[in-house]
Amino acid sequence: MPVLTRLIPSPVVVDIRPGALDDLGCVLADERVSHSGKLAVAVSGGSGARLRERLAPSLPGASWYEVGGGTLDDAVRLAGAIKAGHYDAVVGLGGGKIIDCAKFAAARVGLPLVAVPTNLAHDGLCSPVATLDNDAGRGSYGVPNPIAVVIDLDVIREAPVRFVRAGIGDAVSNISAIADWELAHRVKGEKIDGLAAAIARQAGEAVLRHPGGVGDTDFLQVLAEALVLSGIAMSVSGDSRPSSGACHEINHAFDLLYPRRAAAHGEQCGLGAAFAMYLRGAHEESAYMAGVLRRHGLPVLPEEIGFSTQEFVRAVEFAPQTRPGRYTILEHLDLTTDQIKDIYADYVKAIGS
Ligand SMILES: [Zn+2]
Repeated sequence: MPVLTRLIPSPVVVDIRPGALDDLGCVLADERVSHSGKLAVAVSGGSGARLRERLAPSLPGASWYEVGGGTLDDAVRLAGAIKAGHYDAVVGLGGGKIIDCAKFAAARVGLPLVAVPTNLAHDGLCSPVATLDNDAGRGSYGVPNPIAVVIDLDVIREAPVRFVRAGIGDAVSNISAIADWELAHRVKGEKIDGLAAAIARQAGEAVLRHPGGVGDTDFLQVLAEALVLSGIAMSVSGDSRPSSGACHEINHAFDLLYPRRAAAHGEQCGLGAAFAMYLRGAHEESAYMAGVLRRHGLPVLPEEIGFSTQEFVRAVEFAPQTRPGRYTILEHLDLTTDQIKDIYADYVKAIGS
């Protein structure tokens, strides 16, 4: 019988639970990941040392590499260091910068990547994109999806709570991103990948509707799964469309206009999403989203992350330039400065204080 369905590019192992790190050795010993046990493990110099101490005994064939930061140079340096070894796979063990460096380095030397994120700050932990700082600012580089993802919720709980909050903002922003994709489909005839949209939307909705909070294991489970699924949705569609619309354009505008003052990616995306929902006339959804973000301690007004109304208006106005070619509610409405000011004043009233 012919196989008429498509295959989804996805990791062969996804292990998300409290204590998952204790079984990392078993996951890596899976012969689809590493048959010889020879692994290059990328860790940070700081918090990575403790994890290394804990995991080294169970990974006798591992070589450990300290990654300096999240720059393209760091990633190229890592690739240069590991290319001399006969490794089966690269393991990225740490926060977003470590994972992104490891992703890029693994792709460069042609090895599979095992992602072991130690916080949930954004949906890059299982996505086909590495975000690295380069000489021009910040770049997104296409890479293969990780071959395995291991998330230990006990480790996640030890990370500062602001990382969990940021992850919530990034996951919830999917809902706004999908609305932008549907708009581009209606107005511009852009092709929608229904499966990618379904995965990304469900991930966002699950986090948005979950009654739990940042300290609950069952909430962290859903959040971690949502972020992994968002990454897979991007692999399915072949770009960041399922998880990035006006919300992310506003986030990029903050980063570019106010590079030294920018807040966390997920904080800016959450705020961008609540405002974008309002822009598209989904006032109830916007207020509901803002309420949820507030409940989790996320900003819904620019003042809450240190920006004036004027600075926010400028960011919204500049946002379309950050992703030329991406059609969202911002490009659709093509607002003047005064219109943005007026709508923002309405948004502030609508979400209450
Ligand atoms: Zn994002």
